[in-house]
Amino acid sequence: MEERTGTISNVILARIGEIALKGLNRGRFEHQLISNVKIALRDIGTFSIFQNQSRLWIEDIADIPSLLADDFTMTKVLDALTKVFGLVSVSPAVRFPGGMKEIINHSLSFVRDEMNREGHKTFKVDAKRGNKQFPLRSPEICTELGKEILDAIPELSVDVHNPDFVLFVEVRDDIYIYSKIIYGHRGLPVGTSGKGMLMLSGGIDSPVAGYMMASRGMKLNAVYFHAHPYTSDRAKEKVIRLAQILREYAGEIGLYVVNFTDVQLELFRNSPQDMLTVTMRRIMIRIAQSIAVKCDCKALITGDSLGQVASQTLEALVLTDEVSTIPVFRPLIGQDKEYTTQIARRIGTYETSILPFEDCCTVFVAKHPQTRPKKNHIIFAEKNLDIEQLVQKGLESVEHIRI
Ligand code: ATP
Ligand code: MG
Repeated sequence: MEERTGTISNVILARIGEIALKGLNRGRFEHQLISNVKIALRDIGTFSIFQNQSRLWIEDIADIPSLLADDFTMTKVLDALTKVFGLVSVSPAVRFPGGMKEIINHSLSFVRDEMNREGHKTFKVDAKRGNKQFPLRSPEICTELGKEILDAIPELSVDVHNPDFVLFVEVRDDIYIYSKIIYGHRGLPVGTSGKGMLMLSGGIDSPVAGYMMASRGMKLNAVYFHAHPYTSDRAKEKVIRLAQILREYAGEIGLYVVNFTDVQLELFRNSPQDMLTVTMRRIMIRIAQSIAVKCDCKALITGDSLGQVASQTLEALVLTDEVSTIPVFRPLIGQDKEYTTQIARRIGTYETSILPFEDCCTVFVAKHPQTRPKKNHIIFAEKNLDIEQLVQKGLESVEHIRI
């Protein structure tokens, strides 16, 4: 669809990433992306969204007072947009019809604004002429506009190599000017790669694992194993908060809280201590997978990283995966903690993750867990357990929370 024309208005230019390469699927990807953008902005206001080649234009709805003219709203919209997977970057811009005279006039007030806000002293102009009917070519627009700005604002000077700001001018059917490019999280639009069940603890790793799979287009549900009263309600609140932060990237999440206390007590009593880590993981996986299948999730997602703790040795992971009939995705498997922590900080989960509430896995933990568990160890460890009944018990305790 073509962009609307009219007088000067505030718009946002959003650049579409990788999905531009997807050939025949492109339509479906773009459709999902636009729908995700609408949902991300829903609580802020209603906007028009147009697509043109590998760009989206977000605009005010015609004939009602402009939301984007308000700085506070603009900031919220930009923040929400940068979290939509599939967008590479966004730029707040002004749009107007006309020719060189209008470009000069509007650019002067845009540049003055920019200087007042940011204290900029040097600039350059970067012009692109998409509309070949426009009488000046791109380099001519740059030269003429640059000269006009220098004449009108003597405090400014040109620096083509390292300017404080770049004034971008795009000449299409209308003219667009902007200076900021704010980078987003790239990836693929959530909803284009099916649905996964994230095993979400209150730690640093699992929210990052969820974020990473969502960035590949996966819609998320999440399951949290809660061992009340051994783990406090505040531990549960923390997981809910983490799911809310993830929601800003991944859209709505169905969170399933399993009350795991009875199951854990049973394991604690009837299974060897050194194998607790593995028996517990296996029960968790069985329960998680049961819920996953019911809500159409095609894979489990965990925050495991190879060798990080006893439950994450290759031997423990092999025995854990053995009980799953659907794939277990572990996007952090080869990643070190420092890098995961950096991502957690960047996406905003870190501060919540480090709140000091216990996890069910740390309450019922063996002093010396078996780090190289073998098949015969697990057969022995589960010999006195009624696995079916424990899984059933877990499933009966599930509480569903929409995030
Ligand atoms: P995290 O930081 O994600 O808690 P971790 O480094 O503490 O991970 P573990 O506690 O061994 O490692 O957990 C490994 C993975 O198992 C977690 O990333 C998570 O996916 C899952 N998991 C652990 N505890 C729970 C829980 N209480 N509820 C749901 N999933 C859990
Ligand atoms: Mg943990």
